[in-house]
Amino acid sequence: MDAYTPDFSLEVQGVKGFCPAGETYAKQQIAKKTIPVLSCEGPCIRGEIARLAANLIAQEVPALARACHAETFFVPHSAMAEWVKGAKKSVMVDGCFLKCHGRVLRNLVGNENVIHIDALPLYRKYTDVFLMDDVPEEERKVIARQVADKIIAKLQQEASLEPTAA
Ligand code: SF4
Repeated sequence: MDAYTPDFSLEVQGVKGFCPAGETYAKQQIAKKTIPVLSCEGPCIRGEIARLAANLIAQEVPALARACHAETFFVPHSAMAEWVKGAKKSVMVDGCFLKCHGRVLRNLVGNENVIHIDALPLYRKYTDVFLMDDVPEEERKVIARQVADKIIAKLQQEASLEPTAA
């Protein structure tokens, strides 16, 4: 089996309508000029750690706010997509070196506008585990806390924490 796939595109079914709560939230974020934080999402333990860490950094740093990667990617007429595409930078916390969600985001908003973080090197555990349920919840939280602290330190170092929407 090849260990490489060149650039590719997916066909996505069209969609009608909005998520009312998502519209209100994303419009508030556009007004506040917050920096979107997107993440990988379980059920893989790496995705779950990334998701938990993304939640923590968005809760604790006022300039940051969580964005929904799925609505951003798959509902192009949504305010969520408008917010992320209009932000001068976004933070993407991916679960591992494959950086699945960030590879899409980079093409959507431009490489230079993504602060792309691979969470795994920030804790280096569970490489032989797939399911998040195979790691106790309390342990997942402890690791996510450590990862979030490292990401916040990195963002502070790079002075990436000021609101920057266009
Ligand atoms: S980046 Fe991709 S492969 Fe890695 S944990 Fe996330 S979805 Fe899974």
